[in-house]
Amino acid sequence: MNRPLILLDVDGVLNPFRRPGEDWQHHNLTCDGMAFDLWLNPAHGPKLLELAETTGAELTWATTWEHDANRAVGPILGLPELPVIEVTKTKTLTPPGCCRKTPAVAEHVAGRPFIWFDDDLSRHDRLWLNQHPNVNRFRLIHIGASTGIKDAHFRQATDWLATLGEASP
Ligand SMILES: [Mg+2]
Repeated sequence: MNRPLILLDVDGVLNPFRRPGEDWQHHNLTCDGMAFDLWLNPAHGPKLLELAETTGAELTWATTWEHDANRAVGPILGLPELPVIEVTKTKTLTPPGCCRKTPAVAEHVAGRPFIWFDDDLSRHDRLWLNQHPNVNRFRLIHIGASTGIKDAHFRQATDWLATLGEASP
């Protein structure tokens, strides 16, 4: 199966570090037994589902919230239970300059194309992923942590995922 993936972070993406506007609502949620204050926009769940539906891609959590994302965050946004990349469980050391989640993402994607919404990615991640034998086509979509995901990011993802059907591997 070569269905593309949409990898989704929570902190800095769905939960910006500041409240960007009135559409974001305050929630106090627990992750790994600790309480956190989050700002979440309930419109983001339907937008993500629409993105997945129109592009044929599979939404997948790539967050240190891991399974707590399904338990605590997803229901607020109206998201069904999604696959979880266990980003803290990888045995691969974080490559220099890379996000700690990047090795687990490479192991998970297994050649499937993916876009990745995250606030903590850099050219180091892109270069490392480019060299990884598990990794085929991908697009990192950097999100500003203070504003979180915006409509422009959804459009970028839609446009890039549309190109996958145009060029068969
Ligand atoms: Mg983050």
